[in-house]
Amino acid sequence: MNSKDLHIYNSLTSSKEKFKPLKNNRVGMYVCGPTVYSEVHLGNCRTFISFDVIFRYLSFLGYNVRYVRNITDVGHLEDSGEDKISKKAKIEQLEPMEIAQKYTNSFKEVLNKFNVLNPSIEPVASGHITEQISIIEDLIDKDLAYESNGSVYFDISKYNKIDSYGKLSGRDLDKIKSNSRDLSNQDDKKNNFDFSLWKKADDSHLMKWDSPWSKGFPGWHLECTAMSNKYLGEEFDIHGGGIDLKFPHHDCEIAQAVGYTGKQPAKFWIHTNMLTLNNKKMSKSLDNNILPDDLFSGENNFFSKPYDPNVIRFFFLQAHYRNELDISESAIQASEKGLNRLMEMTSRLNDLQVSNIDNDKIFFKIKDWEKKCFDCLNDDFNTPMLIAEIFNSSKLINEIYTEGDCGEREKRYFLDLFDIFLNKILGVDYNKSNSDNDSILEILLGIRDKARANKDFELSDSIRDQLLKLGIRINDKD
Ligand code: AMP
Ligand code: ZN
Repeated sequence: MNSKDLHIYNSLTSSKEKFKPLKNNRVGMYVCGPTVYSEVHLGNCRTFISFDVIFRYLSFLGYNVRYVRNITDVGHLEDSGEDKISKKAKIEQLEPMEIAQKYTNSFKEVLNKFNVLNPSIEPVASGHITEQISIIEDLIDKDLAYESNGSVYFDISKYNKIDSYGKLSGRDLDKIKSNSRDLSNQDDKKNNFDFSLWKKADDSHLMKWDSPWSKGFPGWHLECTAMSNKYLGEEFDIHGGGIDLKFPHHDCEIAQAVGYTGKQPAKFWIHTNMLTLNNKKMSKSLDNNILPDDLFSGENNFFSKPYDPNVIRFFFLQAHYRNELDISESAIQASEKGLNRLMEMTSRLNDLQVSNIDNDKIFFKIKDWEKKCFDCLNDDFNTPMLIAEIFNSSKLINEIYTEGDCGEREKRYFLDLFDIFLNKILGVDYNKSNSDNDSILEILLGIRDKARANKDFELSDSIRDQLLKLGIRINDKD
């Protein structure tokens, strides 16, 4: 396997390109994180799981990856112009920072259940106000931004003289002009497609900071430019996010960064496609978002029973990250069966009787299979193809059983590859769902049955409730 073979689809050029880090062995990757004003839904999780696999694979290839995934706790506005976090703080009667902390905590807990690794740096927007103000000052100095009634706007017409705005999403300015949705403070702008870098806050606004222009807060797009620049430099390798962020968020980020540094910020742009329910994008604003914990506990209106986070992760990875994926109970059940089959294949491998004589024929077949698996990953992180290859290896396992003379070396090598592909790269923690866990569950259920027989309902209910929190529902017959 050769890491030089990795090709990644670059949204900026709309083509697959060979990946080579800008600096030796180091990879800088920035992914737009969540806006922490409510629980993340399964769609958000799909995107973060896709980037988790990318992070895992790049690290596996031996790159020293600095993965920055931000937390948006200020500046992300509703169409009405109200800050999402401030709005929620008023509704829940909490401090805005309490809202941000509450939903940051639950975001991390959910990703943890999905076995998503922590990024290297997780910076928050409100902790980088000075950096954002410096960028605005610089853009004003360069005449790429202007102040108007205490707010500051990015001047697209001026920017278009140095680079073309909208090139990532491929939108031309005429379309942007007619579709511009940011209707807030329309009168302050020179052109309605100019976007805000700084917003003057009104008296009722909860989160505001001093600046040379007004007491206010930064525009949403700016935080990612400030934090990617601070932690990854003017130019870095990969910038990612969901495809819905391509425009305007990522096009604005490019414009701000090019204006500020004169350089294109990211070499590769990676965009993940959406999770849908009944072919409609899962979204916080539509009434179709499924919360992960509701799926794990079975308490939701969509599915008949609880599902393990591993199964859901495996289900996501059976689609390519650039394809839309529709979630349905039958599809999840197919993934559950598939994952169980993979576990059976692993136990068959474990149970293989081996001799201490090497079998080169088998060894080379395993190596051939290994190459096919890495070819899938090197082809733009093609996880569905990889999973299909892993299923295909059952033929080889059968062949080894039939021939009956496998050496210890072959068995070890094969098992190590299963561990690499399933655990280390796909992050499907399949060992977690193995028979040890089943045995522990049997013991717990035995204790609970005894407690119920002794009418110790405090203990039996507590076991039931705690198992439910882990997504295991007990159906008592009586
Ligand atoms: P937000 O908190 O809304 O900024 O979303 C966080 C991340 O989730 C962004 O990268 C979005 O593009 C992504 N996202 C939002 N909805 C979906 C969805 N239905 N499927 C996949 N990713 C999504
Ligand atoms: Zn961003």
